Amino acid sequence: MKASQFFISTLKEAPADAEVVSHKLMMRAGMIKRLGAGIYNYMPMGLRVIRKVEKIIREEMDAAGAVECLMPVIQPAELWQETGRFDKMGPELLRVKDRHNRDFVVQPTSEEVITDIARQELRSYRQLPKNFYHIQTKFRDERRPRFGLMRGREFTMKDAYSFDRDMDAAGRSYDNMYAAYCKIFDRFGLQYRAVAADTGAIGGDRSHEFQVIADTGEDAIVYCPTSDYAANIELAEAVALLSARGAATQGLTKTPTPGKSTCEDVAALLGLPLTQTVKSLVLATDELDKDGLITKTQVWLLLVRGDHELNEVKAGKVEGLKGGFRFATAGEIDAHFGCKPGYLGPIGLKAPLKIVADRTVAQMADFVCGANEVDFHFTGANWGRDLPEPDVVADIRNVVAGDPSPDGKGELAIQRGIEVGHVFYLGTKYSAAMNATFLDENGKPKLMEMGCYGIGVTRILGAAIEQNHDARGIIWPDAMAPFTVVICPIGADRSEDVKQAADKLYAELKELGVDVLLDDRGERPGAMFADWELIGVPHRVVLGDRGLKEGQVEYQGRRDEAATKVAVADIVGHLK
Ligand code: ATP
Ligand code: MG
Ligand code: MG
Ligand code: MG
Repeated sequence: MKASQFFISTLKEAPADAEVVSHKLMMRAGMIKRLGAGIYNYMPMGLRVIRKVEKIIREEMDAAGAVECLMPVIQPAELWQETGRFDKMGPELLRVKDRHNRDFVVQPTSEEVITDIARQELRSYRQLPKNFYHIQTKFRDERRPRFGLMRGREFTMKDAYSFDRDMDAAGRSYDNMYAAYCKIFDRFGLQYRAVAADTGAIGGDRSHEFQVIADTGEDAIVYCPTSDYAANIELAEAVALLSARGAATQGLTKTPTPGKSTCEDVAALLGLPLTQTVKSLVLATDELDKDGLITKTQVWLLLVRGDHELNEVKAGKVEGLKGGFRFATAGEIDAHFGCKPGYLGPIGLKAPLKIVADRTVAQMADFVCGANEVDFHFTGANWGRDLPEPDVVADIRNVVAGDPSPDGKGELAIQRGIEVGHVFYLGTKYSAAMNATFLDENGKPKLMEMGCYGIGVTRILGAAIEQNHDARGIIWPDAMAPFTVVICPIGADRSEDVKQAADKLYAELKELGVDVLLDDRGERPGAMFADWELIGVPHRVVLGDRGLKEGQVEYQGRRDEAATKVAVADIVGHLK
């Protein structure tokens, strides 16, 4: 590529709304251009990086045996109504109507559509396992789109979905994707960590987030440097809080007074910190006997950060109480709390059920919460008043660095990360809702076991920059760089030698398949170097008259302090 043909547009200053370094640098390097909140044009320079990211993902997904397809961005609401997500998903799901007033959604993911394909196409156990993936535009109407491509509303995701005949096979599909993800993130050249994450309503221990390590990350990761324990903070907190259960139980047998005590009272009683950044309050009990009856009036608090998907309350099992609390039906919770009920699956718990009444801070004033029986509520939970969105999770955690690791193998450390990928065992959640069955060896219909696997293609650009930059600009890992090598001729308009040498080197590198750009814009050296350092091209060759007379060019890696002289005859070998 020649710079004169390409499109290069750099800025001295970042726009005022760019808060984090990756957003600033991507704007300054002319990689993206804002069209609306959380909506960006991918400019030619940025698109090259996106294409490289996609290529690596494709190669590794194909190598892992997944098959590519492409599902529509606009999807009929009927499928989303089948799983209930059309109503349950809340405002993050963008719903649109066509001219006939029919409902559609702009896909935030594609579980429904792929399950619809699977139930029509995968009829026999002989066709399993199958893993379909696509790389497609997503839309999520994020409450707070920010940080450029990192939390956009429109963004690109690779999402894959596996279909298996039973749980064991689904486990193998999961492991296979986990391994593929490791290869993908290794190839990007990023420092990352795979951490255990909450499995929500699904249960089990098969959910991992792939987190790119960066101080500016929105997520906190808890890990043990002396073992392989690693979890996201929500999971670690939940486990830690549950272990505070002895204390919780004790306190609650005396007070708070049902119907009178506030959440602060409850929290104070339990000795659990309720800070201003708490996003949701959960009161839960899991002391169930084998019939699903609650045996003790035990309740404790879970402070949950983050947007848990609200799922249906599994209330049927826990009728007929012995203790003072029971699980409510979805309708009851709705009526009592005026909010949607949620079911937060077993987080390191033995017992299967906990009820969650989940509200965001903004909505939490005068929130009634707690046990779902008349006269047993805790009312007046008001700490949500006028509180800002929690930007920093560090404040709310009950897990701190130095705490013992749950595996007993050392102390916990905490670092920040950016979620760039997520692998998740889904079980039969979608196949059951949509009746996606296959015929097993005995000719009996069985529900398919599913997994889903996402990678935030466009978010990866931001994450890579957060991890790799300096005062001069971006430092792309080779695998992601828009161009691998830039050739900067000095004074090519005055010196035929320089022009010829630059053209020759360019042609040779192109011939070898090196992704090279020749900067033939005729810019002054200072401006030219500043552009390429900002854009973050990893390798630069400078050709000037004086050097060429000595048979030399200058090579500088983007992380190098200074240039080194390389003989003209050696430079191609040096760059290959
Ligand atoms: P987050 O916790 O950051 O909101 P998520 O858990 O909602 O992400 P998933 O549903 O797991 O996201 O989607 C798979 C991947 O898609 C994420 O790991 C992330 O890399 C990417 N992703 C999710 N939301 C966005 C967004 N708003 N902008 C860019 N990428 C996103
Ligand atoms: Mg999200
Ligand atoms: Mg997440
Ligand atoms: Mg996720």
